[in-house]
Amino acid sequence: MTLISALVAGVMAVGCQDTGAWTEGERALISGQPEVMRVLTIEDEADLKVLRSPCCDFSAAALANPLYAELAAKMVATVTSPEQDGVGIAGPQVGLSRRVVAVQRFDKEGEPFEVYPNIRITAFRGEPQPGREGCLSVPGRRGEVLRYQDIDICYTQPESGRDTTETVTGFTAVIFQHETDHLDGVLYIDKTI
Ligand code: ZN
Repeated sequence: MTLISALVAGVMAVGCQDTGAWTEGERALISGQPEVMRVLTIEDEADLKVLRSPCCDFSAAALANPLYAELAAKMVATVTSPEQDGVGIAGPQVGLSRRVVAVQRFDKEGEPFEVYPNIRITAFRGEPQPGREGCLSVPGRRGEVLRYQDIDICYTQPESGRDTTETVTGFTAVIFQHETDHLDGVLYIDKTI
């Protein structure tokens, strides 16, 4: 067992505390890893347990803690790393049972990656459309999934601590649906048509 897998195992044993505060296991998992974090996959039994666990929210204090900014930066570094090269990543994929996703905003100038804590989809509009998806946690596979093209997302702005709602459309809306499913322990392979 490497140091990292020992840390991940520690987090798994701790799980979601539901108080919103950072746990020692989470602190070790985030700060104990380099910029590019290990991505959990369904091929590992212990990883799968984390990927199938529902996530809990961050408290305002947890978001104000520098550890949140460190996690957000490392999630973006991980999903944009050459070995992953993804368009989105969710907390459980880096071993954290927390409601947080990093998504590439193809609907914004420069297509930046942005990180959204305490995220939920609060509205779905129109008819779902089929599209091919893959997942960093499901290596070597792709599948067709039905997703809405017009949704509302609700999340907490880390700077102000305020909850905000935003409408997202197109492929970026598809990414948000894939990533927020992860926060409920749902994988795209559960939904292939
Ligand atoms: Zn995924």
